Amino acid sequence: MIRVHNLQKQFGASHVLCGISCDIAPNEVVCIIGPSGSGKSTFLRCINALETLSGGEIDVNGFAIHRQQTNLNKMRESVGMVFQRFNLFPHMTVLENIIMAPIAVKKLPRSEAIVRAEVLLNKVGLLDKIDAYPSSLSGGQQQRVAIARALAMEPKIMLFDEPTSALDPELVGEVLAVMKSLAHEGMTMVVVTHEMGFAREVADRVLFIDQGIIQEAGTPQQIFNHPTNPRTQAFLSKVL
Ligand code: ADP
Ligand code: MG
Repeated sequence: MIRVHNLQKQFGASHVLCGISCDIAPNEVVCIIGPSGSGKSTFLRCINALETLSGGEIDVNGFAIHRQQTNLNKMRESVGMVFQRFNLFPHMTVLENIIMAPIAVKKLPRSEAIVRAEVLLNKVGLLDKIDAYPSSLSGGQQQRVAIARALAMEPKIMLFDEPTSALDPELVGEVLAVMKSLAHEGMTMVVVTHEMGFAREVADRVLFIDQGIIQEAGTPQQIFNHPTNPRTQAFLSKVL
């Protein structure tokens, strides 16, 4: 579903990604862990073509995003992204937030978009908030709406960039629960997270990124219980 080969990204003189290669299979859940500033967000943004690549190749759902002629908007229709900040449109209700892109981009009839939004809101446990404005919702509720909004485009891949990092601790669980159910339904997911419990339980594979490269990759069992790279060991000793 995603193929990354020798990805390089520089900002000016600073080499942020220094040769990342990995393949992500359909239905796979990959969690990315690593220290702050190690390039995790940049990596996700490259997958969604929100950054231009300095080198290397990325194929996403059949779209070669390193090629000039690739229709990046078409590619992005198959990729949903959820950020640390919920990024809901504050002047729109929950319903309007969810149906906007399906109507504008996918040309879905409004009535059909509404039915789909109701199904998704039910799934994230927020059907009763359909007419609420984002400001009246908790951070956890807003993030669940953000997930429903991304799902409304029927993505094949979901990218999460620290989706629970901005939440009060008591609200983290409800968002992780929604992500977990999505994983169990077979969504292909790439999740940058500091929630090691989630990574351990839900990930098929964990990538430890530091200094712009994948220092170590493996099953949660391998990475958390038997890390072999000294950098992984040092990182985990600080966060576990
Ligand atoms: P992480 O998500 O792992 O914390 P980031 O991918 O956000 O790391 O950032 C990696 C490095 O790239 C940091 O040193 C950051 O300052 C730098 N960086 C990220 N985006 C930009 C940008 N648009 N311009 C310049 N430097 C950037
Ligand atoms: Mg980041």
